[in-house]
Amino acid sequence: TDVKYYELRRPCRVMVLVNPQSGRGQALQLFSGQIEPMLTEASVPYTLVITEHQNHARDLVRETDLSQWDALVILSGDGLLFEVLNGLLEREDWEEAIQTPLGILPGGSGNALAASVHHYTKSPPAWGKELLLSCGFLLCKGLVTRLDLVSVHLASSQRIFSFLSLAWGFVADVDIESEKYRLVGPMRFLVGTLMRLASLKVYQGRLAYLPAPPFTPQNSSLCSSLPCGPNSSPNQNSRHNHITNSNHSTNSNHNTAHNSSNIAITTMRTEPQPVNQKGPPDSLLADLEQPVPDHWTVVNEEDFVLVLAMFQSHLAEDLFAAPGAAADDGFIHLLYVRAGISRLALLTLFMAMEKGGHLAIGCPHLVYERVKAFRLEPLSPEGAITVDGEMVEYGPVQAQAHEGIARLISG
Ligand code: ADP
Ligand code: MG
Repeated sequence: TDVKYYELRRPCRVMVLVNPQSGRGQALQLFSGQIEPMLTEASVPYTLVITEHQNHARDLVRETDLSQWDALVILSGDGLLFEVLNGLLEREDWEEAIQTPLGILPGGSGNALAASVHHYTKSPPAWGKELLLSCGFLLCKGLVTRLDLVSVHLASSQRIFSFLSLAWGFVADVDIESEKYRLVGPMRFLVGTLMRLASLKVYQGRLAYLPAPPFTPQNSSLCSSLPCGPNSSPNQNSRHNHITNSNHSTNSNHNTAHNSSNIAITTMRTEPQPVNQKGPPDSLLADLEQPVPDHWTVVNEEDFVLVLAMFQSHLAEDLFAAPGAAADDGFIHLLYVRAGISRLALLTLFMAMEKGGHLAIGCPHLVYERVKAFRLEPLSPEGAITVDGEMVEYGPVQAQAHEGIARLISG
């Protein structure tokens, strides 16, 4: 797709947030050894903020005077960026605040956004220090693109914003179990995957989604160039009608388009959003206690090995899970693996995923859909769901894409 850019103003004032505990605990050394010299060379003035505890960054960006900063840069894993995004969207001025350019420098054990940003530059894959230097270079270059966010509703009616992924089943369990292997750095996902394969489980749940409209030049012309404001509601409405119509015409492609008993038919949410709600309204979602809208596709299967919703291309530095994803395509790339897959076939899938080849190997248990929204209702009483690699409340969840509402220093 045609990525639109703008340039950071010069000289740009950058706040660099470093989590000294991220990854192998070397983020500060990475900053002084690799990044500081680059910023000095490029004459980028910066202020270093070292996070002291969880949610330090979230509280800081919620309160800070953003007019002092041209960019917020995170040197950590994906977890710290998750905090910053959610802090920005908790502000009274969230609409403006979320347009603050954000930069990511890989310093954690999960550096999926950094790997995705690097991939979007069409450069050959990079890991470790090479990836850090690539992202440092992009920061000095200062080109800003749009970034999709996804709002995620949890059972307790809490809403969080995600830039990366939502996982349940195999991938979520690996995410959590592999925390104890964090000393091996990004390799922890590989180690965790092999451990999980040995005790492969089936996860019961219900999945439903709103398919994305098929790509047409008309759709792409809806994208406005930067800098841009939040989506206007007339625009969203026209898209919604388009989705409804196109879904009916393509239902035959989805062998599972019949509503099952518990995810049944309802109408769209039409009541106005509360005036003081922070963050964009979720016009595609019904209440979580209500059945999904009738034009959604409901998956027939209830036995899964994994459900993985990807919002960027990479799930980890070496997991190229959504090869078709772009930073601002507005899609949720939904992958699920049905139960019945052999250990060997699942291992083959994950090995192919390193180069993004998993969708092309014809695995009959793997399904991939581009969607705008989805709902997942786990049926087993206990389990794990992760959002951007962090564990969230377990239970029914639903999510919708918000196309290009954030800003990312990219290339
Ligand atoms: P990693 O990829 O290594 O897990 P993250 O950026 O994801 O790195 O950070 C992991 C968690 O650490 C996040 O939940 C973040 O909020 C938290 N955190 C941030 N700063 C600190 C700190 N100084 N001490 C402990 N935890 C922190
Ligand atoms: Mg993390």
